[in-house]
Amino acid sequence: MSGSEPDAPAQAAGAAPLHAQWYDGQHARSQEVELSIAGDELCLALPAGGMRRYARRSVTWPERTRHGVRQLLLPDGGVVALNDSAAWEAWARRHGLAEPLAVRWAASWRATLWATVGLVLVLAGAGVWGVPWVAERSASLVPQAARAHIDRLVLTQLRGQGWLQPSQMPPGTIERLRGALDEMLAAAYPADKRPKVQLDLHRLPSWAGPNAFALPGGQIVLSDALLAMLPGEGDRIHPGVLGVLAHEVGHVHGEHGLRNLLASSGTAALLGWWIGDYSSLLAAAPAVLIRSGYSRAFEREADDEALRIMRAANVDPRGMVAFFSALKRRYPDRGQDLPSFGLATHPPDDERARLFETGTR
Ligand SMILES: [Zn+2]
Repeated sequence: MSGSEPDAPAQAAGAAPLHAQWYDGQHARSQEVELSIAGDELCLALPAGGMRRYARRSVTWPERTRHGVRQLLLPDGGVVALNDSAAWEAWARRHGLAEPLAVRWAASWRATLWATVGLVLVLAGAGVWGVPWVAERSASLVPQAARAHIDRLVLTQLRGQGWLQPSQMPPGTIERLRGALDEMLAAAYPADKRPKVQLDLHRLPSWAGPNAFALPGGQIVLSDALLAMLPGEGDRIHPGVLGVLAHEVGHVHGEHGLRNLLASSGTAALLGWWIGDYSSLLAAAPAVLIRSGYSRAFEREADDEALRIMRAANVDPRGMVAFFSALKRRYPDRGQDLPSFGLATHPPDDERARLFETGTR
């Protein structure tokens, strides 16, 4: 399946290689690689001269969307990111990759009928307001069962890639964390408005660093490393850890993951949602949710919500300032070294620290 070999792939005439960024799934930094197809294999030519090969079937190919970075998921946990989507489309077409969704849908007349009805409505909406607008308004209509399914799928994929290992924190840690989170939520929301979240603690790969992330169905994952970076006094949980949890609750409350997913999956996924077929959303979910960060607007929203939650629950917001400081100490050259994954994708900049220090930006 994969391995480093010093030879070059046999290339069909005219099939020029495609340049892309490769994340090996172990390190935060990417390497520039050249992609080519040789028979049934996708080949990555590494800058150092080696070659990695993957069976075409084992690669999760990106759906065709109009916007955004294309991402290929490799079976060993690696990700290939393609910034030049036009070059990717041309290359994929030349190699017969990534069949358009329409081809698959045409197999079912019922789906085709509903897709036509949905297409008119969605395109009318998208034409007037744009796909992101429609995607954002559609997010609240996606049922909880579908969100939970997306969460399960992403967790399964992360486990399969070896990214989620059992926590090595002392016994009872997760119970204390869940108890503290429940207390915060009870103080900050009336019972009928409380975001439904599920918290788990995991050991993430070392390249992910001190980290946390939230999935659309309300699954929040906190890394052992983050907890170790901010030890509380005795049995007390550090207010910075609670702040991070509150920030992730802010993402769940604002439906940011789902809105991101719907927006970057584009019209095709909206159509799929319309006919009750979440497959294209699900296919895109792991890459979109894990690899692409949130917009600055979403980060501000999550920070505002975190501040509100912390105040309502009498948790010192300056805990977040301590968290940013600890992160800066660990990654002094943050532009270079901060993991491109989860919470760590949003830099601990001065504006964010000021918000939690003073309550205003
Ligand atoms: Zn965030």
